[in-house]
Parts: sequence; C-alpha cells; structure tokens
Amino acid sequence: MVLPSEPEFEQALHELTTSLETFLKKNPTYQKALDIVQIPERVIQFRVVWEDDSGKPQVNRGFRVQYNSALGPYKGGLRLHPSVNLSILKFLGFEQTFKNALTGLSMGGGKGGSDFDPKGKSDAEIRRFCVAFMTELSRHIGQDTDVPAGDIGTGGREIGFLFGQYKKLRNEFVGVLTGKGGSWGGSRVRPEATGYGVIYYVEHMIAKACPEYSLTKPSTLVAISGSGNVAQYTALKVIELGGTVVSLSDSKGSLIAKEGFTKEVVQSVAELKLKGGSLESFRSFASEDKYTYHPGQRPWALLPKVHIALPSATQNEVSAEEANVLIKAGVKIVAEGSNMGCTAEAIEVFENSRKQGAGGVWYAPGKASNCGGVAVSGLEMAQNSQRLNWTFEEVDAKLKGIMTECYNTCLKAGSEWSGEDFSSGNVLPSLLCGANVAGFIKVA
Ligand code: GLU
Repeated sequence: MVLPSEPEFEQALHELTTSLETFLKKNPTYQKALDIVQIPERVIQFRVVWEDDSGKPQVNRGFRVQYNSALGPYKGGLRLHPSVNLSILKFLGFEQTFKNALTGLSMGGGKGGSDFDPKGKSDAEIRRFCVAFMTELSRHIGQDTDVPAGDIGTGGREIGFLFGQYKKLRNEFVGVLTGKGGSWGGSRVRPEATGYGVIYYVEHMIAKACPEYSLTKPSTLVAISGSGNVAQYTALKVIELGGTVVSLSDSKGSLIAKEGFTKEVVQSVAELKLKGGSLESFRSFASEDKYTYHPGQRPWALLPKVHIALPSATQNEVSAEEANVLIKAGVKIVAEGSNMGCTAEAIEVFENSRKQGAGGVWYAPGKASNCGGVAVSGLEMAQNSQRLNWTFEEVDAKLKGIMTECYNTCLKAGSEWSGEDFSSGNVLPSLLCGANVAGFIKVA
C-alpha cells in the first residue's frame, strides 16, 4: 500500500522497531502487536473557523489522533504551532502511547492540535480560536474517553478557554482536560511536572553513571534548550538543587549564561514568554558580560564545557554534528525534555559513545525522561474523579516515585533486550532500548 510520506512518524516508528529487534527475535508472536500498534485507532481531522480582532473569519486545521486505548482513555496534549501536520501528530501520539505506559498509570495515548500560530495573536483571538476548536473537539473527547492537555503553544490560559467551552456545551464539570488552574480542578505540581520529572530521572542517571557530578554542585554544568514550560521548570529545579544552568533558547536564538542563570532571570524569561516575547529582549544582559545572546543558533555548539544536556524545545533539535560537539565539550548525560528532541543520527552518536564503556555518554529518550508531565496529568484525572485536591508534597512524592519506577523499568529492560554483552560491567544498558521495549511490552 502506498502511503504519503510522514517523516517524523517514520522516524519514531523506525526507532521503536530497531529497539525491538532482539526482543522480537526471541518473542516472534509479538510481531503482530507491532503491526497493530503502529496504526492509530482513529484520526479525527476538522475545520476551525474563528474570528480575528478585525471581525474577519480565519480558518485552521484541527486534529486529534486517538492512537491507542489499550491501557486507558486516550491521553496526550494539544500542540498549537504552524508546523503541526498529521505526521507530527502521529509521531507524538505514537510516542505518547509508550510514554504513558511507562508511567505505570492507566492511560492510553493520543495527541492533537492545530496549525494555528498563537504568536502575535491577541488574548481575545486565542480565546475565540480555542472556543471554535473545542466546539468541534468536544464531541470526540470525554473524561473516560480522551483527555487532552497542554503541549507547545497550549498552556494554562488555553486549557482554561477550552475547558470553559466544553463545560458550556456539555453542561458538566468533569476532568476532560488536564493542566487546569488550581482553583478549578487542576493538580498541584502539574505546571512543574515535566521539568521536575526530567531532573528526578536524571538524578538516577548521574548516581549510576557519573556520581562525581551532582546537581547539588555548582561545578555541574547543565545545558538546556527551549524556554517554554518544560525548559523553565527544568532550569528552576537545577538552580534549586544547586547546579549551574548555562543555556536557554527559543526559535530565534540562544542565551548563554557563563556563570549560570539565576532563579530571577528564569522567572523573567517565563513572564516574557507568557507575553509572547523572545529571548532577544535579554540582549541587555550581554552587556553585563554574564549573558551572551546568539541569534539564529541552538545552544549545543556554543558551550566550551558542559556535563549534562537536556533538549527541551521541540523534535529533532540536536544533530549528529552537535552531538559530537557536545561530547567534545564533556557531556556525559543527555536526557530529552522534548519529544524526540534528538535526530536519529544524534542518537546513534550518543549510543555509540555509550557502547565504548566508561566515560561515554548516556542518553535517555523523551518517552522515559519527560513522562513526569503526563504522569501528573494522570494524577490530576484521579483527583478529579474523587473530587479531591492533594497537597504539593503528596503529588511531588508520587511524581518522584513514578520517575524512579520508570528509570528502573528502562534500566532492566535495556539490560535484558539490547542484545549487548554487559559482562565487563563497564557498559551501561541502553535506556533507549529499555524504554521502547518496556513500553511496547506493556501496550502489546
Ligand atoms: N504534552 C505533554 C507530553 O508530551 C503532556 C501530555 C498530557 O499531560 O496529557 O507528554
């Protein structure tokens, strides 16, 4: 059958299939599950007509990919970005299915969104878009059917507009979306969850692979890309623990902090981003000689020294060339806060380095290291069903437990199913293989 080319989805499928080679050789009956799981259960595509501030009609494409419900209601975010198309949403929904499995909670996988560009739109335009989007989406979702949440371009404000419209249309106050505000059904720690979760996962990686580095030491240098929800809370957690964050970025350029970002600067980046601003406005810091701004560049090749790299912007944001530069700069750990943050070629560079033994790079794929966000979404669903609100400490402790469990699961499956020989004790198991195999087995 001839299908249109879907490069991002094909990349995600190829990654999973390659990781499964040894497992499938030993368990050939699972091949059918692989054939089945790669096709979404349902793809919904619709038209979104909304009115701009001048009263003119505007139109966008809306999507919801209900990928897999083997483990629970479809669950996954809504991406609002001009690049959104079916290939991107299929890769995200596919990844989400295995990620959600790795949380250990009862959630299937899905993803949705629109090619609507929130940049440069007024609050009222964003609200009218969200209302129009939900008017159609509402008939396909439900608290036990499909529970969307945020992703790139969809934060607390957008979830609020969407939730309000759902409530109006259906006359029911239920947990049909996650990432809601604290006073109307949202969970504590949800805004922080993806970033904090990445760090809880990375702490385990450091303890095993390179205990000489620690996020409590200012000498441990952490490069982060992106400056949205994930990057912000990843940076804040590193700073809280005592490590040094040396970079942040956005689609226009990178901000490098030689001596590290302060909590206050990260907080002002968050405020700036909420208003739709770009890091360019932080050029002023450059004059202080502490912050340098690099237009049009990603951070990876700008850092003379770095120990931990956390791509947290979008897919395919680390190339093979950049992976090699990072290794030369001393990187030991790479963990994705974004989904499929590294290109297939960059992953190959990192995995080859790991296979060389002590001193190599250890790479964690997003479906494992960034599963904390959707995990706390799952906890939000549980609280909504009970009409309860857990404390910050309760949710944070559960998040830590889930990330630990996810790390242990990936480590175990990676040592069992990568087909490598670990008898020397020098080589670390592949978390890439471990995450893919463990997630797949659960769904299969
Ligand atoms: N968009 C996030 C992710 O990629 C969160 C999804 C959710 O909370 O449902 O995992």
